[in-house]
Amino acid sequence: MLKQVGIHELLGHGTGKNLRETAPGVYNFNHASPPINPITERPITTYYKPNQTYSSVFGPLASTYEECRAECVAMALSCDFNILKIFGFDTGKGDIDMSSKAGDVLYTSYLSMARAGIMAMEFWDPKSKKWGQIHMQARYGILKTFLTAGHGFCVLDYENDDLSDLTIKLDRSKILSHGRPAVERVLRLLHLFKCTADIESAREFYDGELTCVEGPFWAEKVREQVLKKKTPRKVFVQANTVLGEGGKVELREYEATCEGMIRSWAERDV
Ligand SMILES: [Zn+2]
Repeated sequence: MLKQVGIHELLGHGTGKNLRETAPGVYNFNHASPPINPITERPITTYYKPNQTYSSVFGPLASTYEECRAECVAMALSCDFNILKIFGFDTGKGDIDMSSKAGDVLYTSYLSMARAGIMAMEFWDPKSKKWGQIHMQARYGILKTFLTAGHGFCVLDYENDDLSDLTIKLDRSKILSHGRPAVERVLRLLHLFKCTADIESAREFYDGELTCVEGPFWAEKVREQVLKKKTPRKVFVQANTVLGEGGKVELREYEATCEGMIRSWAERDV
């Protein structure tokens, strides 16, 4: 988890260059010979104009889109065992040893991302057909990427028609061959549209395709099971130390409930 957050923040949010006209007629790229758009294979035509920023151009889409981009960077670079080494994971023999500790970490991060994509349905509103939580919208988009990666990389398995036994099956041996390339394809688009201020393509791809919830399978069945199996949010309650009989220090712990949390605060420093 630490590793995923580290890559997400530092190499996700922290990287990339937005192409911009910084002042009238001044560019931070070669305007006479602009970079080639890897999708169209033609020079890029859009960029940020003076006074435009990513937030002002992307508006309400800005946060969730950027979270998805950073999560995709984390998913793609977690596969780089040299990076996992930096975070102190044993990478086993050679560059890629999926049976190593680093392989376990990689598998866990893909699996928990897939699970988060399912749990995300709690934050999708069927009435407005809108997402209410930016990170969860992003994770749903990444799960969809896994599910469409092909070759049975990630499938949703169930026997019951109401999906009460819904299980995620993610093939650990295909993370590097199928999962990572699928994430990279999505990442390339997200990154390209951001760097070139191409809000129209971004909206069409992100809202219209990647995170669009269609059909009763997701909108009704998966969502219903997620809501049914929802557990209360975990509360972390801090214990207190008190001076007991004969000056002995005693540890006082509390129940992990709202009441326990209030009691823990109330009895502190008294
Ligand atoms: Zn983030």
